[in-house]
Formats: sequence, C-alpha cells, structure tokens
Amino acid sequence: MVIGMVAGATVSLAQDDISRLSQKFEKQTIDDRRWFHENPELSNREFETQAYLRKTLLEIPGVVLIEGNWGTGLVAELKGDLPGPRIAWRADTDGLPITEDTDLPFKSTRRDTLKGGRETGVMHACGHDLHMSIALGAIRILSAKRHEMPGTLMIIFQPAEETGDGAHDMLAAGLFDDGRKPRCVMAFHDHPTIAYGQAGSCSGWSTANVDGFRLTVKGLGGHGAYPHRSIDPVTLAAKMVLAFNDIVSREIDVNHHAVISVGKIEGGTKNNVIPNEVKISATVRTHDEETREAVRDKIIRTVQGLAESVGAPEPELEYYFGTPSGYNDPALVRQVREVFRRVLGPENDITYQPGMGGEDFSRYGKIVPAFQFRLGVAPPGLENSMSLHSPQFNADERAVPLGMRLVAEVLWDQLNR
Ligand SMILES: [Zn+2]
Ligand SMILES: [Zn+2]
Repeated sequence: MVIGMVAGATVSLAQDDISRLSQKFEKQTIDDRRWFHENPELSNREFETQAYLRKTLLEIPGVVLIEGNWGTGLVAELKGDLPGPRIAWRADTDGLPITEDTDLPFKSTRRDTLKGGRETGVMHACGHDLHMSIALGAIRILSAKRHEMPGTLMIIFQPAEETGDGAHDMLAAGLFDDGRKPRCVMAFHDHPTIAYGQAGSCSGWSTANVDGFRLTVKGLGGHGAYPHRSIDPVTLAAKMVLAFNDIVSREIDVNHHAVISVGKIEGGTKNNVIPNEVKISATVRTHDEETREAVRDKIIRTVQGLAESVGAPEPELEYYFGTPSGYNDPALVRQVREVFRRVLGPENDITYQPGMGGEDFSRYGKIVPAFQFRLGVAPPGLENSMSLHSPQFNADERAVPLGMRLVAEVLWDQLNR
C-alpha cells in the first residue's frame, strides 16, 4: 500500500515535470515546426533540414551526434545519468513534390526540379514538419531531466520516407551496429482522420508489404479485321487483369489480407491495329510473408498459364518486393497505451484498423520490437475533411505542444521500464 502510494506520487511528479517543461519549450518548438514547414525539401535532398537539425540538436544540453554515413539523415543520442535501457525514436524529414495551397503565414513557396526536368512546388504535405519538431521538443524535455533519466535515447532523423529508401539506407549504413541496437523503436505519424487531442493505435499488422510488378504481355500484331492471323495481347491482358482478382478472392484465405490493383495498362496505337504487346503495372499488398510469396507465385503461374493457353510468347514479368509490412509489437502497444490513457484521457486512446498503405518505419520493426502510432491533427469536428499528401493539408498546430509532451511521456515511461 505504502509502496503503491510512493510509486503513484513519483509518477505524478514526473508527469507534472514533463508538462511544465513542455510549456517551457513550447514556443521554441512551434518556431521549429514553422521553419520546417516553410522550408520543405524533397527526398534525399534534405540538406538545409539536416543543417537546421544539426545546429538545433547541438544546442540541446547532453545531446551528441553519432557520425555515420547517414546521407541527409542524422542520428543523435541523449544519455541519462542513471543506468537503463537503450531505446530509439524515429522522425522522418522529407517533403513532397506538391505546391502548397493553404493560407498559412509560414506556407512553403519552395520549388524544385524533379528527375526528368519537371518543376514543382515542395510541401510538407505529409506533416513530417510535425514529426521533426515534436521530436526536438521531446528531446529538450528529456535533456532537462537527464540527471534523473535512466538509459539512452537514440533519435533517428530519417530522410526519404516518401520514396521508401531512407530507413533501408540508414540500416544498411550500420544504424543498429556497434552496440547501437535499441530494445525497441517508436514513432508516430500525424493523422488528419483523428482529432487533435487523440492518439490512434493498431496492434499487430499495421501497414502492408508494398510489392508490385511490371508485365509485358506479348502477342503477334496484325489487322483488327483478321484477328485469327494474330495473337491478340489486348484480350490476353484483359483476361490476366480479371484473373489477378480471382487470385485474391479464390485462392487466398480470407483471414490473410491481399490486394492486387492494376493501376496502368498501355498498348496499341489505333482502333483497328492489334498491337504486338501490352504493358501492365500493378501494386500488390499483403501483410504476412507467406501470403506475400504465395501471391507472387500465383501471379507468375497465372501470367504464364494464360499466355500459354492462347499460344502467345512468354510474357516478361518483372516482379519486385518493396517496403515490407509494418508490425506493431502488441506488448509495446499495451505499455504505450497506458501512457495515452494517463496523458490524454481514456476516451482519447483510440483504436484503428490495420491498413494496406506502406511506411518504411516497418524496416526497423524487422529488427527490434516497434510501434508507430497515429497522432491526431484534425481540428476537432473536422476529421476526414483533409488528407495527407493534399495541397490543402493543414495540421492543427496545437498538436505540436501536446505531441511533444505525449512523446516525452512515452519515452520516459519506456526508459523507466
Ligand atoms: Zn507521406
Ligand atoms: Zn508521412
């Protein structure tokens, strides 16, 4: 009983402390957010972002930078004075090739040129400006508590999330090597379907394997009036597209998620000319590894079998495995949700269904237990009124002070376990 009271008192002291420190660093952290928002950069070109982060991190007492071949990323560490676990937090840093259409006084007017020469506006339309600033805010809070902090916090500022290669490249450069492997890694993504003041969790599978293929269906071209003298790749391609959907509905256990979507078909030049070939590209989404491989094998079999059935040449199939699926470690999710309920109130700790979108945060989770939650950034009552990657995306900025407090509480809780 007495121990319980003492433990309770300690927790509430830490809580008050974090909330007070959060107020102290609020203005600075909102200024960071506005700078990031006004100065977005495309994937793997986050040079000024990296310089800003480097300068800002070096001003926070106790923070050291871990040098490495991180490209436009950065890795920082904050070591507490007390012994404890090593945990990691990840914030992604890139913007998108979108021209901002908001009325914000700090709206981005940046432009850049894409590979291929097209000019575009650049915008933090995925809210990575919040990810970075909230991480900085949480580090400031923990830095102020470092003399009573157990363990070590590693912070990963990861570039190129949008192109899906940032996490891969940092891990390949040895992010978790040399004794740096953390006990767990966490992150959040801001989310406009969730109101400011709430956090969303999903236990287990959270994002999909983002795979796909490029297929060239081969035939024998000829006059549209005499199809019997040709091998028509258009009808063959059409059969294949329908057969892909049969794979999902007839050959995959409904308890295992799979989606095949053909997003592009190209072929032919004129209504009465049967072309030589038709090109198809598709995205393939699954969660577990077994289904991932099964769907690939069934697509190969379907494509080859249908071509053979009409006497067509063997199709060219380029199948690739992209970003792997994300898995939120159930034990870690349970622990973090206790913090959500304490800080936000039980009614604001919400559950969302797993999706088939992709996120390269998943790559860390292939190595250590991981959890990425969703932080609500919709103005209350306006959930679903905007979407990520939209030129009008405009996060409720009150999510910055609340987010830094919540992230600091989550990290503090983990460091004390
Ligand atoms: Zn995005
Ligand atoms: Zn994003």
